[in-house]
Amino acid sequence: MRFKDRVVIVTGAASGIGRATARRLAGEGAALVLVDRDAAALEAVLAELPDGTTTQLHGMDIADESAVETCVAAALQHFGRIDVLCNNAGIACGQALATDQDMAEWQQVIAVNLFGVVHFTKHTARPMRDAGRGAIVNTASVAGIRSGAGGNAYSASKAAVINFTQTAACDLAQWGIRVNAVCPGLIETGMTRRVFDHARAIGKAERLGSRCELRRAGQSGEVAAAIAFLASDDASYITGQAIPVDGGNTASLNLPGMKV
Ligand code: NAD
Repeated sequence: MRFKDRVVIVTGAASGIGRATARRLAGEGAALVLVDRDAAALEAVLAELPDGTTTQLHGMDIADESAVETCVAAALQHFGRIDVLCNNAGIACGQALATDQDMAEWQQVIAVNLFGVVHFTKHTARPMRDAGRGAIVNTASVAGIRSGAGGNAYSASKAAVINFTQTAACDLAQWGIRVNAVCPGLIETGMTRRVFDHARAIGKAERLGSRCELRRAGQSGEVAAAIAFLASDDASYITGQAIPVDGGNTASLNLPGMKV
């Protein structure tokens, strides 16, 4: 019950990693402010939470700063505090070559994946500063560390999230606010469902994740466990870090022919 009497905002809570994070934190006693642009899917999450979990739902776009400001104000009014922010919502993009980038897509990906994180950090860190404590966990990606795990705009947005994790951690440490990130590898979620469905359809599901040292793709709950750790007091001396949750993928260059 590491989150008993704690109020946690989770963005992108209607699906995948965010949904698993909501379940995990509620299971450890958290009151939840759940954010997603898919309001109907957000309602469905409630049925998965332990009886008695206190929640507030916000169907909204994290790219809209005024909506974020309103959301944080409503959460504060209802709960009186915000202890943890999980900046998790994100979108993927196409895989065009560097010569063929779609700038409208870049604008959209940066608006959601980067500005959404900045908006929620800005407005949530203010009450955390006043309280003298807080924890923020951003969901970045291995795509922000290496090429080959998403389109160019997506990778750049996640690299920016990793860097903002460091700069925000250094800004906010003086008020006892920790800021960290997780960098998931390949995880089966709404974002990657088509990849998994296709691989299963052609009988090659076992190849997914085969370049990871653990030789498999990950589950949302495995990322949620890392988010919960970083958000909890168990990580009280960890800030400014971006921790891969990737089955060892980024630990190895995995050069073809170099391993038996
Ligand atoms: P998902 O599509 O299952 O969940 C993402 C959720 O974010 C959805 O419910 C979606 O409606 C919501 N969302 C998207 N844009 C939004 C917006 N503008 N405003 C509010 N909500 C919005 O995907 P997921 O894999 O669970 O993604 C969660 C995070 O994990 C993302 O930041 C993603 O980039 C990251 N990630 C995923 C993987 C993976 O393999 N699935 C790997 C690395 C990083």
